[in-house]
Amino acid sequence: MNRRDYLKTLAALTAATAVGGSAVGCVGKTGRSVKFGGGKMVMQVTPIELQMRHTFTISGFSRDVTPSILVSITYDGVTGYGEGGLPPYMVGQNHETVQKFLSKVDLSQFADPFQLDDILTYVDKIDEGMTCAKSAVDIALHDLIGKLLGVPVWKWFGYTASKTPDTSFTIGIDTEEVVRKKTEEAAPYNIVKVKLGIDEATDKKLIETVRSVTNKPLLVDANQGWKTKELALDMIHWLKERGVLMVEQPMPKTVFDDMAWVTERSPLPTYADESCQRLRDVPRLHGVFNGINIKLIKCSGLYEARKMISTAEALGMRVMIGCTTETSCAVSAAAQLSPRVDFADLDGPLLIANDYFEGYNVVNGKITLNERPGIGILPINN
Ligand code: MG
Repeated sequence: MNRRDYLKTLAALTAATAVGGSAVGCVGKTGRSVKFGGGKMVMQVTPIELQMRHTFTISGFSRDVTPSILVSITYDGVTGYGEGGLPPYMVGQNHETVQKFLSKVDLSQFADPFQLDDILTYVDKIDEGMTCAKSAVDIALHDLIGKLLGVPVWKWFGYTASKTPDTSFTIGIDTEEVVRKKTEEAAPYNIVKVKLGIDEATDKKLIETVRSVTNKPLLVDANQGWKTKELALDMIHWLKERGVLMVEQPMPKTVFDDMAWVTERSPLPTYADESCQRLRDVPRLHGVFNGINIKLIKCSGLYEARKMISTAEALGMRVMIGCTTETSCAVSAAAQLSPRVDFADLDGPLLIANDYFEGYNVVNGKITLNERPGIGILPINN
């Protein structure tokens, strides 16, 4: 299919699935979409709610539903899509605050979406924080530019699609029976990510339960749960003997000296998640962690994420890419960067019951990028 045919198909699909002027099919179920801007670029914002397949528990939170925000930007008859998940840990970012922020975004001052640098610098300066909303705009612009150029974003960035890693599949904290069941469900994936950080006995029991089902390599995310450096290091040694490849955010996010002590002695690489939000955090994490976990909702999108990858590489640090509970829109955007990372934890759409798009695929556990222009997604009528 050439670019023109593709765009026609996309427009037809979008029209066929639109409900009451919404950006994609059935979004009217969860929120009313609002249009902004009278210039050459028109932005549409639609709040949605994602249903979790299972109640998801990590150290500190449990949830069945996660809100998310969809942004579409249309220019010259072509529409780019973006999304920012709104999990509870992104404090202060919810449907109401994000819509209020996005209502301030005035794209009429820009001639076209190719002014990406100017547009995103402007959006970032409107308010502090609000990175979930900023990321949705960033993704929509990248999708739009890719479609206008007729190339996938990964190709525009110069990445090699075959270099994508396996994605991990995440298992939250739960009862022994549920953890065993979820581990069995993780059979199609080659790497399993286990959420720990409750207490030593519970954490060890969780790993033993997972290990009673599978011998696959594990990633561990302690979500800041280990409160002393000695416990963190003991746990990492114990985990290393049980086939764990890396540990994410062992200690509270602002504990830097103790975390550096752990990393210096750790037999496994440590990755910063909660400690690493944006580009400005990366240099100060050098020597504290071995690597960083980039998430688009934390860092404001693909534009800054690429700078974070370059900065981490310059500092000799490793990089992983993660996501939150999001549709195949936001996660297909994150997947565009996956050829450049060591680990990818891009299972968001796999954990929800109502995806709004088809996009990147997971084939035999490996992230698989497609040749569609932009971030490679198509709206689906769920
Ligand atoms: Mg994490």
